[in-house]
Amino acid sequence: MITAVVGANWGDEGKGKITDILAQDSDYIVRFQGGSNAGHTIKNEYGKFGLHLLPSGVFNREATSVLANGVAVNAKKLIEEIRDVESAGVPLGRILVSDRAQLVMSYHMLLDAYEEERLGGRSFGSTKAGIAPCFSDKYAKIGFQVADLFADEDVLRKRVENVCTIKNALLKELYHKPLLDPEAIYQELMEDKEILAPYVANVSAELHRGLKEGKKILLEGQLGALKDTDHGIYPMVTSSSTLAGFGATGAGLPPHEISRIIAVVKAYSSAVGAGAFVTELFGEEGDELRRRGGDGGEFGVTTGRPRRVGWFDAVATRYGCMMQGATEVAVTVVDVLGYLDELKICVGYEIDGKITKDFPVTPLLEKAKPVYETLPGWKTDIRGIKKYEDLPENCRRYIERIEQEVGVRVSMVSNGPARDELILR
Ligand code: GDP
Repeated sequence: MITAVVGANWGDEGKGKITDILAQDSDYIVRFQGGSNAGHTIKNEYGKFGLHLLPSGVFNREATSVLANGVAVNAKKLIEEIRDVESAGVPLGRILVSDRAQLVMSYHMLLDAYEEERLGGRSFGSTKAGIAPCFSDKYAKIGFQVADLFADEDVLRKRVENVCTIKNALLKELYHKPLLDPEAIYQELMEDKEILAPYVANVSAELHRGLKEGKKILLEGQLGALKDTDHGIYPMVTSSSTLAGFGATGAGLPPHEISRIIAVVKAYSSAVGAGAFVTELFGEEGDELRRRGGDGGEFGVTTGRPRRVGWFDAVATRYGCMMQGATEVAVTVVDVLGYLDELKICVGYEIDGKITKDFPVTPLLEKAKPVYETLPGWKTDIRGIKKYEDLPENCRRYIERIEQEVGVRVSMVSNGPARDELILR
């Protein structure tokens, strides 16, 4: 059986927490896309962790944590993260890295930074982790798979030469930056080889065997549906698919086995980076929500930069759940909203004088104005509540209104950052 935990918004929905909980009862926890460009925050008995590459299930020592073929693997960042978690006293289980995963190279990070510099004010707000250049190279077929590290030296050296020829043309003519030295790149690959060797595996073969034996597989998505390369707010998207369906491709699994898709939905909106954000709050209203949001404020795990925040956007979330193929919804950070007298939910977009509930393509999204519905606040702290019925009536009304608009059953309500702050409905 395969379960996917994925984001229905722009990321930072609290997927890490939901994955951490479900991981306690899973055999494999699999990252199938993305790289070290986003983070998950986990708070459990070992402390508070900001994970970037490791799956959030790494805290279950009985389970195997997997970086599948769809992930962009930065070997040095991975080993740093493994050491950080180990040094906090976490007993680690098995960690596997797919032999088909792509490697993030130092020049990917450089090119990411140079491109942001070149774009100046028009930049994407990239985390400069090299993810877009890495995935671009993957599809241009000039990337390195983990398995290439173990290829014959002369074969690998020829591929390195070719990459350097291409990259150096860009570095020289477009960016006016120092050129790559093929020998240094080859040595970098050899360092990665040494780091990754203990973890490399034919991941899809193992996962298929696991499925036959009735093992439970948990797919953990990074970012959210609105950052999906195809279906998100292109071009302000991430460079790999964030959708549950891609879990099959990104981990080499049978699509029909993904039977449970939990879309994690944030009780208000937050986003990092540039791009249209219809319900964004500015000024004091925005600052207050940002300050109170998440666990200690809405600031990026990877970059520390302030996240943009806004009212709950039912148009975007309904679309996000639809793209994910959600079978259920987990609503998170509901506790944060207890300070508000009233809350707004965006139930439609007005575009060129017409109201729609269908999430539009980017050029139209830029013109969209929110159509709001106002609901009364609950003005209490809901942390510590264990049963859905015990939530204040106005809080339940808010959640049920979200459920109605989104059209998918809300099965979980998260009312605090810790593992036990979850209400099953
Ligand atoms: P992810 O990338 O989807 O895993 O989300 P992040 O980890 O970036 O952001 C979620 C933030 O909200 C983290 O700081 C979590 O500890 C925190 N969080 C998750 N669920 C809740 C919740 O129900 N209430 C509060 N207050 N914080 C939460």
